[in-house]
Amino acid sequence: MVMLVAGVFCLLTSPSIGELPRFEHHAKPEESLNVLVLGDWGRKGTHNQSFVAHQMGIVGEKLNIDFVISTGDNFYEDGLKGVDDPAFYESFVDIYTAPSLQKTWYSVLGNHDYRGDVEAQLSPVLRQKDSRWLCLRSFILNGEIVEFFFVDTTPFVEEYFTDPKEHTYDWDGVLPRATYLSELLKDVDSALVESKAKWKMVVGHHTINSAGHHGNTEDLKQLLVPILEANNVDAYINGHDHCLQHIIDKNSGIHFLTSGGGSKAWSSDVKPWNLEELKLYYDGQGFMSMQITKSNVDIVFYDVYGNTLHTWSISKDRNVAAWI
Ligand SMILES: [Zn+2]
Repeated sequence: MVMLVAGVFCLLTSPSIGELPRFEHHAKPEESLNVLVLGDWGRKGTHNQSFVAHQMGIVGEKLNIDFVISTGDNFYEDGLKGVDDPAFYESFVDIYTAPSLQKTWYSVLGNHDYRGDVEAQLSPVLRQKDSRWLCLRSFILNGEIVEFFFVDTTPFVEEYFTDPKEHTYDWDGVLPRATYLSELLKDVDSALVESKAKWKMVVGHHTINSAGHHGNTEDLKQLLVPILEANNVDAYINGHDHCLQHIIDKNSGIHFLTSGGGSKAWSSDVKPWNLEELKLYYDGQGFMSMQITKSNVDIVFYDVYGNTLHTWSISKDRNVAAWI
């Protein structure tokens, strides 16, 4: 599979001990960095997954995207059973077949992925099967004008440990939880402090602010939000709620972007929210695009037919102008 485009490549630079793995993605000169964001998708093409994939291919070509971000819950219901699980083909390789989608898929794990063999989903063996696949627990992607900080949010949710119900989670590599979380938070904080990128965006599976079915994730509000606010993060991007959603926190100004409409949607499952903050809530399937330049991030949400549901332009110039 040819996935490298002239002038655009990714590489893993070896991290120092205690630092998050870093990847570099060089933007096309003088152009915006264009990205599609998808979450909550792997259902072997059912629940409109294939239709969403088809529209992603069209939008991906129009925007000449650089890469795809997956916000997790990549393989339903219970992650992958192993590196040879046919679901990897049935839900990923054989679904996102459009030429424009043959780019790296930078992916985090969701709670459903943790119900399977986590090491399998993280394994480089999957990259041999399809070189697009790149999933780690937590990592940094440097796109020059923008830096994405991918955070493993499932271990933050205490309920999965104390009341897992009928589910079994694969916590290998996560325990003891307190140590895992404190080291992760420290690494994310120091990476954000050191970042010189114009735009800083954090990607995780779980919601922080959401009017959807799951609502807010209090564990993340307590532990992660202070770090996002202290470091002037521009956006937090997530899945988990099966909807498309845009909330601007009125206190911090952080944009909370939910792209969790990759397959099964939860129609009419919405809680009341301050309409000054809630710019979009769409309870059907779809995905999001971002066109990122030094001065602007243009966000578009699309439904399963490829129709534009919502657009928003975040500007940096306004902040700069305020200082002049
Ligand atoms: Zn989830």
